[in-house]
Amino acid sequence: MNIDYDALKKRGFLRSKEDGLFTLRTRMQAGNYRDGHLEKLARIARQYGRGITHLTVRQGIEIPFIKYEDIEPVEKELQVSGIKTGTSGPRLRATTACPGNNWCKRGLVNTFALFERIENAGILCGTDLPHKFKIVISGCPNSCTRAQGSEIGLHGAVDLSHPEKRIGYAVYLGGCGGRTPRVGFKLGRIFSEEEVISLIKKIVNFYKHHAKPRQRLALLIEEIGKENFLKAISA
Ligand code: SF4
Repeated sequence: MNIDYDALKKRGFLRSKEDGLFTLRTRMQAGNYRDGHLEKLARIARQYGRGITHLTVRQGIEIPFIKYEDIEPVEKELQVSGIKTGTSGPRLRATTACPGNNWCKRGLVNTFALFERIENAGILCGTDLPHKFKIVISGCPNSCTRAQGSEIGLHGAVDLSHPEKRIGYAVYLGGCGGRTPRVGFKLGRIFSEEEVISLIKKIVNFYKHHAKPRQRLALLIEEIGKENFLKAISA
């Protein structure tokens, strides 16, 4: 059988180590599963897998051991329930967010609202890119989603230079894990939500057109120089 594994990966079904089996990866807005989503996923796991659901570090849920012939029926069930699939490979990965001021007492910003604005601006999980690319949002400088460890890391912060001590976002760029781990560097000011959206668009676009295949943003920045990179994304 001719199986396009890469296309399946993009649809959220990853090849398992066992031949003919796949792992479903789901994602929901900023990790928020609602309205019976978990019951639905538990049932899918029992019916099509082996009853296991696994939480991923990107706030998704994986269901392993799904047979190739069950992928379409599972996809239909997910669609009806409004559950989205995640992705892997050289793409924009699911953006992760802590609760921010939705319920965390330390939260300075509404992380879920920013998440939605990022998606509404067309910066979507699954967008093809030269390599994996991650965005994380934290509600305060505690940075529970590790702003320093992803391509773009954001956390809520008070702008002490502003006369009204306005609240905005600190921005870190060029962090990553993997085989060439890097700590992201912090930009020198606090950004408004509008500015953050515009900045993310520019960075993702620049990365898409300038990185070589399998080159993380950190290594692209090292290749062209931090100053040149910052000039390019501020243009
Ligand atoms: S980063 Fe701040 S707002 Fe977010 S969960 Fe941690 S302490 Fe709460």
